[in-house]
Amino acid sequence: MFDELSKILKARDVKLVVVSKTQSPERILELYQKGQRIFGENRVQEMLVKHGSLPGDIEWHMIGHLQSNKVKQIAPFVSLIHSVDGFGLLEEINKQAKKAGRVIDCLLQFHIAQESSKFGLSPEEAEEMLNSPEFANMKNVRILGVMGMATFTSNQSQVEREFRQLKGIMENLKSTHFADSTYFKEISMGMSGDWELAVENGSTMVRIGSLIFEGMNP
Ligand SMILES: *Cc1c(COP(=O)(O)O)cnc(C)c1O
Repeated sequence: MFDELSKILKARDVKLVVVSKTQSPERILELYQKGQRIFGENRVQEMLVKHGSLPGDIEWHMIGHLQSNKVKQIAPFVSLIHSVDGFGLLEEINKQAKKAGRVIDCLLQFHIAQESSKFGLSPEEAEEMLNSPEFANMKNVRILGVMGMATFTSNQSQVEREFRQLKGIMENLKSTHFADSTYFKEISMGMSGDWELAVENGSTMVRIGSLIFEGMNP
């Protein structure tokens, strides 16, 4: 599955984040040897262990809800944080990035699903954040775009509506806050069950786990 998927996505210029949460280092290495370099984790502790034991040129993406008090542990190496869902968190990322002497790339996570269990900002919260003087002074974070998770449902038209909503949010932010930015262009949407729909609706980055790992040796 990996080879096929990675080929399709490359042809469409969509980045593949292999979601390796709960997967063994051996399985990750198997994909690394096929050329995969971007892996996504949703827990800080697990990411730390894997970062410490796997090749140094892997780009580790944090895709799960991140608590502010854990940011400092991943700040020295994390490549992209998909899950910025609050002002306090962004401030902490900026602070820890500064301490680590880096600029950390981030995506703003929006709540587009019907499930209340999923995290994310509302467009109003994002506006407030981006308009604030504090944001203007954050020199150690760079916002590359947006991320969202659709409702877990077989209703394709609902999922599609949610992806379009995220694309709309992205375009609106681009014109109002990031018109001069060459790097604000990423839309992280699409998982094992809905990646095709996500790509059709403008995804630039998909996060896929089970679809890839299901058929592999343990
Ligand atoms: C687990 C997870 C994924 C991948 O889900 P699959 O259905 O296994 O592809 C993607 N995004 C987030 C935020 C996740 O937590």
